[in-house]
Amino acid sequence: MATEVTGGCQCGAVRFSAGWLGRATICHCRMCQKAYGGFFGPLVTGFDVKWTRGAPAWFQSSNKVRRGFCANCGTPLAYDYGAEDAIELSIGALDDPELAAPVLQVNPADKLSFFDTLMNLPVRQKGDSLNADEFLSDVVSHQHPDHDTSVWPPAVKP
Ligand SMILES: [Zn+2]
Repeated sequence: MATEVTGGCQCGAVRFSAGWLGRATICHCRMCQKAYGGFFGPLVTGFDVKWTRGAPAWFQSSNKVRRGFCANCGTPLAYDYGAEDAIELSIGALDDPELAAPVLQVNPADKLSFFDTLMNLPVRQKGDSLNADEFLSDVVSHQHPDHDTSVWPPAVKP
């Protein structure tokens, strides 16, 4: 991949760039479930990764791996297994997660029993729930935009 890949946490305190991306996976292990508060860990190998604003805090989740996250907003950002030239990055933290479509599932022993049927769930469309539509209609996002910015935190508009 020729162009630089960028990403960061939800609040914008931590931003990163990667020179290029490697293989993208989803990891079903129990530690990834817990670390992401989700059903799996979505990770892509990042090469030539630089922290371009702030830096992650780290939790040594095992004797072999530490996990990087934003200490300000909690976004999981990285999985560092000690490789010299690479670190795993959270796919959802990329400014464009479409760059890292997963190609492999790992640690299937811990896969949640309902994972394989998630795609069968009914879908709530706009118009199906007036309460939900009303709630969403005036949401004001405080999330950092999906591109680098010159100032953090952003200036608050009066
Ligand atoms: Zn943050």
